[in-house]
Amino acid sequence: MEIVAGSIVLAVIILIAVALFGKKKTKPIESFPETYRRLLNEHVAFYKELDHANKTKFEDRMLLFLSRVRVTGIKTTVEDLDKVLIAASAIIPIFGFPDWEYINLNEVLLYPNSFNHETFAEEDRNTLGVIGTGPYQNIMILSKQGLREGFINNTGKNNVAIHEFVHLIDKTDGSVDGIPEFMFSKQYILPWLNLMQREIQHIIAERSDINPYGTISQAEFFAVVSEYFFERPDLLQTKHPELYNLLSTIFRQQPKKSESV
Ligand SMILES: [Zn+2]
Repeated sequence: MEIVAGSIVLAVIILIAVALFGKKKTKPIESFPETYRRLLNEHVAFYKELDHANKTKFEDRMLLFLSRVRVTGIKTTVEDLDKVLIAASAIIPIFGFPDWEYINLNEVLLYPNSFNHETFAEEDRNTLGVIGTGPYQNIMILSKQGLREGFINNTGKNNVAIHEFVHLIDKTDGSVDGIPEFMFSKQYILPWLNLMQREIQHIIAERSDINPYGTISQAEFFAVVSEYFFERPDLLQTKHPELYNLLSTIFRQQPKKSESV
C-alpha cells in the first residue's frame, strides 16, 4: 500500500514537473527586441496591417521559431534583418493556425546570392531558395539577396522565402503535391484540384498574370499563388476572386494590404 501511495506521489510530482517544463519550452522567455519590431514595421507589410493583439501574437511566434530553428550564414553574415525576414516568412502562411510549428525544419542556411539547385555551389546558379532532401533533410537554403528582394519590392507578387515555407507546410503530410491536407477539410480538396488545373491552363494559354513557374507542378502552383496571396492580396482578390476565396479558406486568413504600401 505504501509503495502504491509512494508511486502515486511520484507520478503526481512527475506530472507537475512535465507540466512546468513543458510550459517553459513552448513559451519564449525573452521579450521581443525593439530592433526586430522596427525592422518589421519598415519591411513587412503583413505585420504592419495587424492589430495590436495580433502583432504581439506574431512576435511571440517569431521568437519561438527563432528559438527552434538555427539561421547560419554561408560566406555571409546573418544580420538582424535576415533573421526577422526569415521568421516573418515562416509565420505569415501559418498565422491562421495558432499552435502550428515547423517540426520538419532545424536550420536555414543563408547564401549571399543565388546558387546551384543540386550542388548548392555558386556556379551555374539560378536558384534563390530550396527545401533540402536526403542529407539536407530538415534544412532550408535561401539566398540573402532573394530573401530581401521579396520584401523590398512592395508591388511584386514574388517572395522566395514564403514560397519555400509553403513547400514545407505542404510537405508535412508526407508529399509536396500542392495539397496541404491538414489545412482544409476534405470537401475542399476536389474544388481546389479543379481550380488549380483551370488556373494552370490559363497560365499556359498566356491568359494569366500568375507566375508561369506555377505550371511546373501543382506543388509549384500552390507555392507561387501563395506568394501572390500574401504579397498582393488586394490584386489577387480583384483578378482571381475564386482563387483568393479558396486560399483564404486554406490559410484561414484574409491578409490585407493598405493602398499606401
Ligand atoms: Zn518551388
